[in-house]
Amino acid sequence: MNYMKSAPLKQSRTGHALSVALEFLFPSGCQVCATPLRGAPTPWFCGPCWAVEADHRVCFQCGDFLASETVTRVPEWRCGACMRAAPPFARARVLGGYDGLYGHAVRLLKYREKTSLANYLAGRIRPRAYPDGFWDVDLVMPVPLHPSRLRERGFNQSARLAAAVGRRMGLPVAGHLLERTVATASQVGLKRRERLRNVARAFAVCDTDSVAGKSVLLVDDVITTGATLSACARALMRAGAVRVNAWAVARQTAL
Ligand SMILES: [Zn+2]
Ligand SMILES: [Zn+2]
Repeated sequence: MNYMKSAPLKQSRTGHALSVALEFLFPSGCQVCATPLRGAPTPWFCGPCWAVEADHRVCFQCGDFLASETVTRVPEWRCGACMRAAPPFARARVLGGYDGLYGHAVRLLKYREKTSLANYLAGRIRPRAYPDGFWDVDLVMPVPLHPSRLRERGFNQSARLAAAVGRRMGLPVAGHLLERTVATASQVGLKRRERLRNVARAFAVCDTDSVAGKSVLLVDDVITTGATLSACARALMRAGAVRVNAWAVARQTAL
């Protein structure tokens, strides 16, 4: 089943309790390789799968993965898209690609409400692997869900991640300064241009005084085209933020 193409089923409370009980009685194996999880470092992934390190050469600005033949001896190499039109955020980085470990992690977090996984993921951040100044931020902010979507899902996976990242890095988290004012249609299956149009004016800062002059780290679960991050970053910059960086668990190549 492709999680990204089908709307997640909304589980009833009884259904959720039942699946929790079943998982306790019959623990499933590693979400990547199905190995039994006895002694594993996480409740979802075995040691070897969890230990895998992403090794991508990335665009210095948007963090997009660069093709292996791209010359990257230049330390601040930027991809073609960033050279043509620099995004409104200064730096974006992810833990790794959506294929494999991090895609599984995002789906567990988002569709199966394994929210404690956020702490495990934040624990994987190795600050020194990030560009200078990446963590010099005043506020960590999640990419918000529209209130109607939040009611439907019951939680915002990006808010859980932002809280975990804030704790991990010792940074204050501001969960309610950025709002999603337009309930945009799902981005799944949309092309980059359509995504940009879809979210362009979907975000607003509700308390500009708290954002003015601040350096902000936006947190999301997945970066696909960067359209959502760009829209959030623009809203923050309009409100007077001095700089916006972004962090996400995974990067998914656009369709
Ligand atoms: Zn495994
Ligand atoms: Zn780039």
